[in-house]
Amino acid sequence: MPTDAIIECPSPNHDLRQPDMVVDMLVVHYTGMLSAAAALERLSDAEARVSVQYCIDEDGRIYRLVAEDLRAWHAGISYWRGKTDINDRSIGIEMVNPGHEFGYCPFPARQMDAFRELALDILGRYPIPARNVVGHSDVAPLRKRDPGEFFDWHAMAEASIGLWPGEADYLELAPTKIKNILADIGYDVRDLPAALRAFQRHYRPSRVNGRLDPETARRIVGRSQLIGEVY
Ligand SMILES: [Zn+2]
Repeated sequence: MPTDAIIECPSPNHDLRQPDMVVDMLVVHYTGMLSAAAALERLSDAEARVSVQYCIDEDGRIYRLVAEDLRAWHAGISYWRGKTDINDRSIGIEMVNPGHEFGYCPFPARQMDAFRELALDILGRYPIPARNVVGHSDVAPLRKRDPGEFFDWHAMAEASIGLWPGEADYLELAPTKIKNILADIGYDVRDLPAALRAFQRHYRPSRVNGRLDPETARRIVGRSQLIGEVY
């Protein structure tokens, strides 16, 4: 990533990471606002108390709001693989998009190209395992829907950003077993339909309904096999 391609847009909304904290997560969001300008303003508003390291406009322009070594405030109350302070251990990227509330729309190719380039650059510099490349909805399934089902996780996985599961032959439909597998993947499974919806939004975006249908079950097992846990 040529540094001169990134537009500096510093936000006061940050604090320090815990000493010795290792950044091992990448969290993807959408802005959920009508314009990039409105999103950048909010992400820099001291009273809003939200921020992120990077924001990518629909035309592919990348804004840096918080330096990577600082703790930005993008994940909120969240959980992944037993950890709850996701802001402390992650780098956040916001994709400009109106979101489900204001007219959710596909992410333009130029925006996805910029995301791919930035994410690969980050993944080359931090020990972030593929299983820790997640959406906001993965880490806050009861509260969040971003970046949503239009975010092309499949194409990103083919570019070595995150994981994409095939459908396992083995079909496990016992809810308790599925709950355990989702927990092993990393989800907060206290509300199983919410966890299923989050999984579908990321890994089976054609139908996001929180139901344990056969394809969802096969993809959950397929996803677990990608990280070496065989059921
Ligand atoms: Zn978000």
